Amino acid sequence: IKTSNDGKFEEGQLSRYGNIELNPAAAVLNYGQAIYEGTKAYRKRDGKLLLFRLDQNAMRMKISAERMCMPSLSVDQFIDAVKQTAQANKCWVPPPGKGSLYIRPLLIGSGPILGLAPSPEYTFLVYASPVRNYFKEGSAPLNLFVEEEYDRASRGGAGGVKSSTNYAPVLKALTRAKSRGFSDVLYLDSVHKKNLEEVSSCNIFIVKGNIISTPATSGTILSGVTRKSVIEIARDHGYQVEERVIPVDELSEADEVFCTGTAVGVAPVGSITYKGQRMEYKTGAETVCPQLYSTLVGIQTGQIEDKKGWIMEID
Ligand code: PMP
Repeated sequence: IKTSNDGKFEEGQLSRYGNIELNPAAAVLNYGQAIYEGTKAYRKRDGKLLLFRLDQNAMRMKISAERMCMPSLSVDQFIDAVKQTAQANKCWVPPPGKGSLYIRPLLIGSGPILGLAPSPEYTFLVYASPVRNYFKEGSAPLNLFVEEEYDRASRGGAGGVKSSTNYAPVLKALTRAKSRGFSDVLYLDSVHKKNLEEVSSCNIFIVKGNIISTPATSGTILSGVTRKSVIEIARDHGYQVEERVIPVDELSEADEVFCTGTAVGVAPVGSITYKGQRMEYKTGAETVCPQLYSTLVGIQTGQIEDKKGWIMEID
């Protein structure tokens, strides 16, 4: 879908997956004007497809667009484009229990602009790919490394929205941590270097007794759709959930730690290494993480009745 001269998005079209053409002076190539979303379609036993809380992704994309000086699609346009893409790729959606179709809506400044200014034209596109587990560990516990040299987001920056420019700067810390055998990086706040923020592509939760805590979304971490859903599910299960500032020192007292995200689902953390000290956490059937995981995934895959109106079923 392209913007017309009045900044409104035109009617979209489906086309075969392939390369797209861009002007060398396109704003996205030179100034990184790009935002995206991520969601998944699951196949139900009866063959129908299920999409999860698309309105949340649509609204988050509007907030991202506003922050990055881009026009935004309406919630209905966004949902319709994702639905059509899922339907058109139905043959690629794995059978139940074998994965999902990851769907990536992307909005780029596709117009040419030499001086620094918002793009004169935008392109919204949606593509999809079948996926299985995000981490090579599969569903095994993750081993995180607390990053102290590099920041993911700074106050007043774009860390709270899903801008593509947030991701290239984390590659260095991520590849370094992976080369040392860690699964991913846990970031601290850039001002005090002492409060938990998030992992490269997921949110973090810590458990102590009956209380589950997660860093509050104060502009430097992404407000995850999975985070929001897991908070609600945890409260339904009778846990007390706190969204607050979490000092890194609390990691040494936590019983359990887990991560949430569209790609990872709800993933247990087995260890976190901070200042050379490795802290280990409880994992396995008796912990909170698998309870939340099975409720979330049960709703997403149609095995648990959706009483919350989170699911959209399509043929
Ligand atoms: N934080 C970051 C930086 C992410 O890229 C993602 C993935 N979108 C998340 C958190 C989790 O968000 P969601 O649950 O909406 O996938």
